[in-house]
Amino acid sequence: MDFKPVRQPEIKYTKLFINNEFVDSVSGKTFPTLNPATGEKICDVQEADKADVDKAVAAAKKAFELGSPYRTMDASARGRLLGKVADLLERDVNYIASLETLDNGKAFALNGSIGDTFFCANVFRYYAGWSDKIQGKTIPVDGSFFAFTRHEPVGVCGQIIPWNYPLLMATWKIAPAIAAGNVVVMKTAEQTPLSALYLASLIKEAGFPPGVVNILSGYGPTAGAALSNHPDVNKVAFTGSTEIGKIVMAAASKDVKRVTLELGGKSPLVVFDDVDVDSVVAQAQEACMTNMGQCCCAGTRTFVHENIYDEFVTKSRELALKRKTGDPFESTTINGPQIDDEQMNKILDLIESGKKEGAKCEAGGERHGDKGYFIKPTVFSDVQDNMRIAKEEIFGPVQQIFKFKTLEEVLERANDTSYGLAAAVFTTDINKALLFSQGIKAGSCWVNCYLAISPQGPFGGFKMSGLGRELGEYGLQNYIEVKNVSIDTTFRRF
Ligand code: ADP
Repeated sequence: MDFKPVRQPEIKYTKLFINNEFVDSVSGKTFPTLNPATGEKICDVQEADKADVDKAVAAAKKAFELGSPYRTMDASARGRLLGKVADLLERDVNYIASLETLDNGKAFALNGSIGDTFFCANVFRYYAGWSDKIQGKTIPVDGSFFAFTRHEPVGVCGQIIPWNYPLLMATWKIAPAIAAGNVVVMKTAEQTPLSALYLASLIKEAGFPPGVVNILSGYGPTAGAALSNHPDVNKVAFTGSTEIGKIVMAAASKDVKRVTLELGGKSPLVVFDDVDVDSVVAQAQEACMTNMGQCCCAGTRTFVHENIYDEFVTKSRELALKRKTGDPFESTTINGPQIDDEQMNKILDLIESGKKEGAKCEAGGERHGDKGYFIKPTVFSDVQDNMRIAKEEIFGPVQQIFKFKTLEEVLERANDTSYGLAAAVFTTDINKALLFSQGIKAGSCWVNCYLAISPQGPFGGFKMSGLGRELGEYGLQNYIEVKNVSIDTTFRRF
């Protein structure tokens, strides 16, 4: 397939999507969304606040009422609608990827917006298949009862997503929720509202009844807080920083809402000395710098065995210097801009801390150009475990390379973090790989690969990286309530 970026895609939707209509906010307020490659405004979008959240939650609640068109729809029909969304995403892949690149800054390429959009179609299709396969059990309980479980939807799901993978994050949350028969009110990230609004139009086009999916653009402390505090929201699903995740969890605890959290990370990638160095250098750098490092499971701590450390560092430096940074619409670009000036400045501050604390900056280490929010691909060697760059989530294209000697030592150091999202080990020794994957405290452990994420496999964090899993069959569990029904089979005697 030939993909052609549209540098200035028409912006078709800027309003709030409530009850299958695009509407103005109650307050009439709007906010700008910027192009991170230039810092210029793309357009203004309607700004949701508490009143809009109330409207959207009421619409969702109504769509979920017993006897509603949605609740009486066959599960297989619900699956067909999800499948239709997948088809529509593929139909419009070129436009959607252009919109995403414009609003988010990620490269328009198979490893950027185009790839993300296809992945979204795959996730919708995967969960489409689940819709009529979510089933309970019959249970041989004690006594003269016939007992069975119903796997029911939780109800109104409030979903709050970040800006790093706008369409993908919307998809990971909407598709399983709908497959299990829930209704959704989603708040997108204030930096990247556009692709999810277009997805809303596809959800309507696919034929979902009004109120089943509602999508709001707005800020965290206003619309996000209103959603996570709303008494009619039965479940909150959040992806973002650990700091805000704790706030969302506390808000949800008031009504004992179901909560799932997908939070930060500082993932280790361990390289033993029995590997093909060139290949692993490339994989390790991609693991760290993919999406400009704006990836919760980025492999930011590269632990390299002492026997190959110097060679590995030299090759990582050469590779980083070649990593093309610039206009994300250019086909040869790998790194686009960071999302905004706040993130850019935070990353530059961490880079400075690395230099001050004595790590060796091998490549990059500064802003790229003076327009937009670009950072040069950066590699640090001689990194010590107690440095800020070794401990804090950077969310930028900044790779830390550490030296290690033994498996026991590296496992302990890799686990010495409050995060536990992902990890990887590169070795040709199966015993080392198995010992590492057993000992590492992380929700994903990749062996001789990185970011091996697929619709069928679960993804989520140990420790402060989150709660619950997304994707795969496990991802459905968060959207299901189990009801145990017991029938007295002796009833006829009364
Ligand atoms: P990041 O650091 O990646 O921007 P955040 O955790 O700040 O991540 O934001 C992730 C999402 O959480 C965004 O949609 C943001 O608007 C939202 N958010 C921020 N603050 C709050 C809050 N107090 N309550 C609910 N949602 C919030």
